[in-house]
Amino acid sequence: MTPKKENLSDKLKKDVVLVAEGYLFELERRGYLKAGPFVPEAVLKFPDAVKELHLEFLRMGTDVVVAFTYYGHRSKMKSVGLEDQLEALNLRAVELAKNVADSNGCLTAGNICNTWEYDTSRIEASEQIVRAIFTEQVQWAVSGGVDFIVAETFSHLGEALIALEVIKKAGLPAVITFTPATAKSCDGYVWADACKILEENGADVVGLNCGRGPQTMLPILAEIRQKVSGHVAALPVPYRTGNQSPSFFDLRLSDGKNAFPVALDPFVLTRYEMAEFTMRARDMGINYIGICCGAGPHHVRAMAEALGRTVPASEYSPNLDLHPIIGNQNSQKKLYRECMLGPLPDGPDSDE
Ligand SMILES: [Zn+2]
Repeated sequence: MTPKKENLSDKLKKDVVLVAEGYLFELERRGYLKAGPFVPEAVLKFPDAVKELHLEFLRMGTDVVVAFTYYGHRSKMKSVGLEDQLEALNLRAVELAKNVADSNGCLTAGNICNTWEYDTSRIEASEQIVRAIFTEQVQWAVSGGVDFIVAETFSHLGEALIALEVIKKAGLPAVITFTPATAKSCDGYVWADACKILEENGADVVGLNCGRGPQTMLPILAEIRQKVSGHVAALPVPYRTGNQSPSFFDLRLSDGKNAFPVALDPFVLTRYEMAEFTMRARDMGINYIGICCGAGPHHVRAMAEALGRTVPASEYSPNLDLHPIIGNQNSQKKLYRECMLGPLPDGPDSDE
């Protein structure tokens, strides 16, 4: 008899749940989808590429395989003339994620997100549109057998609450996160209050994803952690945001042009910085930790190892002691080292 698979709640009670996201950016970099519209059409056109990235994140230690349905909703698909492929894309994305997750005993998450349709100037009409979008996507995820739903990158509490209501109606756990580009939600709530309200309405995990890098996300996370009693999520982008540029939308290149979304390379954080973030978030009591747009598999492994885990790809974790130039002196090729970097400093071991 196979042991019963742990659900999200069991996992969160025991330890941090690590979640790799960032599929749109990574598959765009690899040439499988277009920046700008950012719709996940690779699911239908290049399913092997999507599967490969799922497998890579899994090798690096993700606990959850998130179905690639981000922006695979009616509004976005319609805007690029792909509305007729909406259902097929959602079903296939969940199937791809679940096949990878099931073969490794991981959880599969369905994924919905902000629709760009929620409009505070015509609340009732826009709520209907948004609810219909979420309802069909959640139904497709449920029919594919997901374990829970991630609803993310909201800038309005109102829209996030609709997502929560739809997910709860479907009987699944809900992870709901905001993208904190500014200090408050677009409907006027500080993020900690918005998260608290989601929690009071039955969200299983609440928090932040995307938009900010660790440095500018952590202070808001601290406020959320104080206000919320349950599980808190933190999935920053791996970019060097700071006081001048709190979110990656604000980052500018040296010529003043926008770095977002396809010229963010000068601001990418190292794997060590993402490992540091992971430990800080864990020490704050955050237990759903991950990474969003810009994530590379190497970041995910460093985050998993920062949690003390050995993952399949730990077999190839760096061992720079073995490097011929910067390694320890037993492995250094001294002649090359001195030619390329100059004489070794005098030290207790330098003659060995
Ligand atoms: Zn993101």
